[in-house]
Amino acid sequence: MFEDLKGKRVLITGSTAGMGLATAREFAKHGAKIGINSHITDGAEQAVAELQELGAQGVVFIQANLMKTAECERCVSEFVAEFGGMDVLINNAGGLGGREGLENIDDEFYDRVMDLNGRSVLMMTKYSIPHLRQSAKESGETAAVVGTGSIAAREGGGVGAGIYAASKAWLHDIHRNWVKEFTKDNIRFNIVAPGTIDTAFHDGKSDELKANIASTIAMGRFGKIEEVAPTFLFFSSHQYSGYITGQILDVNGGQMCP
Ligand code: NAD
Repeated sequence: MFEDLKGKRVLITGSTAGMGLATAREFAKHGAKIGINSHITDGAEQAVAELQELGAQGVVFIQANLMKTAECERCVSEFVAEFGGMDVLINNAGGLGGREGLENIDDEFYDRVMDLNGRSVLMMTKYSIPHLRQSAKESGETAAVVGTGSIAAREGGGVGAGIYAASKAWLHDIHRNWVKEFTKDNIRFNIVAPGTIDTAFHDGKSDELKANIASTIAMGRFGKIEEVAPTFLFFSSHQYSGYITGQILDVNGGQMCP
């Protein structure tokens, strides 16, 4: 499956751990050329070696803090300098950014959460568009942007996570706008919306809280990163999803059925 991903140039943000790394592993098994990214170097060297071992045609790690516009521009430039273009952008970097009730939210908190989940995606996409447009023109097939949304975007998030949930709803919606602007260029935009997936995202939670959350999921357990990764490949593959754009695919074990 996904044979057409072989040799594709794929930049995955926030991909030295969690769902981003699991997705990079799947692309590697399919022989893609992969850019992985994080704001920190922890785990990067091992990830590059693992992806090469799994069969990637090329791997580059780009350290860049995507909360900053200039870093997004540099991240895209370094990826393109390595592989000569870009066929797929996966906007996965993001996170909770802390929990605060409304009455404690200040400008610094708001900016942090929105920069991490909103500005990063906006600017990464902005700087990638010319390369994706060129890819589609040269191949005669669609190029793809896939974003990591969230169940929180649909149901508002937990107490203290309102800005995070709203930032993901913002992400879900801006993809709809980009469909209108860039379908003429043969670029598709889709969202993978995970439910509760077992990653460092939930590190601060007690075992009791995790069990309570699991009890709200129809499948009775958190999802695994390997269960989310294939959805990113599906949306990246012109062969398998070339007529799909502007959609949100929920990967949540039945936690919510929108
Ligand atoms: P994770 O913490 O395991 O991975 C996050 C990755 O992003 C790491 O590689 C980290 O280094 C990188 N990163 C963090 N800040 C960055 C920055 N400023 N610039 C560049 N890279 C940065 O978490 P995860 O759960 O795999 O999260 C991946 C995405 O999934 C996030 O967008 C998150 O909001 C979303 N999400 C997670 C869940 C869940 O339950 N785990 C649910 C819905 C959505």
